This record gives sequence, structure tokens and C-alpha cells, in this order.
Amino acid sequence: MPELPDVEVIKRNLEKQVLGKHIGEVVIDDSRVIEGVDATTLIKTISGKSINSLQRHGKQLFISLGRELWLTVHFGMTGNLLYVKNNQEKIKYEKLSLFLTKQERLVYLDQRIFGRIGLTSSPVDFVSSHDLGPDSLMVSWEQFHTILHNQKGAIKVALMDQKKIAGIGNVYADEILFQAKINPLSIPSKLSETRLHILYDKTTLVLKTAIQHNADRNSFPDTFILKNRVKASICPRCGHEISSEKIVGRTTFFCSNCQKM
Ligand SMILES: [Zn+2]
Repeated sequence: MPELPDVEVIKRNLEKQVLGKHIGEVVIDDSRVIEGVDATTLIKTISGKSINSLQRHGKQLFISLGRELWLTVHFGMTGNLLYVKNNQEKIKYEKLSLFLTKQERLVYLDQRIFGRIGLTSSPVDFVSSHDLGPDSLMVSWEQFHTILHNQKGAIKVALMDQKKIAGIGNVYADEILFQAKINPLSIPSKLSETRLHILYDKTTLVLKTAIQHNADRNSFPDTFILKNRVKASICPRCGHEISSEKIVGRTTFFCSNCQKM
């Protein structure tokens, strides 16, 4: 599932590929990915517009198409936005295609169709109407502390709650907690200020490191458990076997030896 680093990498790639280009024909192959607007209106509204800039908040991508007009993209479980050149043929799981000039197009793919594409007049309004918390890379320590220090549920659940802090999902929550040496079931209100601060620092470190490595897990540092997210793997810090357990319904990888409550 695309989390903050994956979406940031998609954004950075598209900034090199599609900025300033005009949208010609818009083809929607599966209107289930369209939300909050009907397909005909969406096509009419965005055809002929040019792509001015991209923004990201948490896992949400915004594509500016002019004054007070943004295309919103949430990637769900399996969504991706691909820049394609010199290939007009349908791609597997293609759901929407924006034809640009010179045999280029921007294609939205989604196998499981949990992603959503829509329109907004302002990313700020979108974030507030969807009740999203501050972006995980932009959140200040003061905000982070205020959001988490009174929470009584498991820390992993709080980290993944987009209404608290936006951008972290199941996979990166595991890595952040591993790096911070905090058990996924720890209760935030019981963590010391020092450990919460370590968690804040590791959140930034993990997300930035992932982006530097193009969100490609195979190239992550050997000190990351994400690199080896399989059953019976070994903790890169202490050599203990990594546990994989369902925690609040999500498969969680952690080291019971060095991630303390
Ligand atoms: Zn360990």
C-alpha cells in the first residue's frame, strides 16, 4: 500500500515528467476510481488544462490544473500513477488515462480499486474536510507530542491513524517503531517524554531515508527491518528472531527483544 515515501517518490518523478504539459483527451476505463464528481464532469473540467505543480499531504497527492482546480489522487491499496511515452496501448489495471502531447500520457493503474481520484479547489480545504492530521514529515515536535502523549491505545494504531498524523501506514509504522526501539503495543501516554522524542526523530529519519532510496525497500540500509519483511527473519540489531503477529488486524513485524514496552 502506498505510504508517504511511495507517494513522495511518485510526486518527484512526475515533477520531472509532466509539469507544464497540457491534458488533451481524458479516458476513464473504470469510473469506480472517481469520487465526488461524475465522470463526464471530471473529463469536461480537466481537458485542456495544463499541469502546473504537485503537492502531497500524507498519502494524498494533489495535481494543480489551474486557479482553484486540483486533481486529487489517493492510491488506496494498489494505486499508481505512471508516465508513459510512445505507448498508447492499454496497460494492465489501467483505470484512467490523461493524454498529453507528443505520444505521452499519465496513467492511473489500480488492481484492487481502493484508490480514489477527484477534484478540489484547494488542498488545504481538502485536508480539513477529510479531517487529516498534519503531514508526518511536516509535523513539529510540539504537535507530535500534543497529538500522542495522552493516547491510551496501542502506539502502532495511533501512528497509523490518518486523522492524527497523515502519511504512515502498516509497513512504515513497523519500521519507525523498530528504529525507536518501542513495542508496537506500547501505550503512548505511558511513554516517557524522551522516548516520545526518539519516536518523533525516528519518524522523520525513516521517512526521509525511504525517500532518499526512492522507496525501494531492496536498497534500504541493512539496519532496517523493512528490507527483510518475511517470517523468521533475524533482527539486524540484536540477532533475535523477528516476531510477526497480527496486531489490530494488521501483520506486524517487530523484535520482542529490543523493542520494549
Ligand atoms: Zn532486536
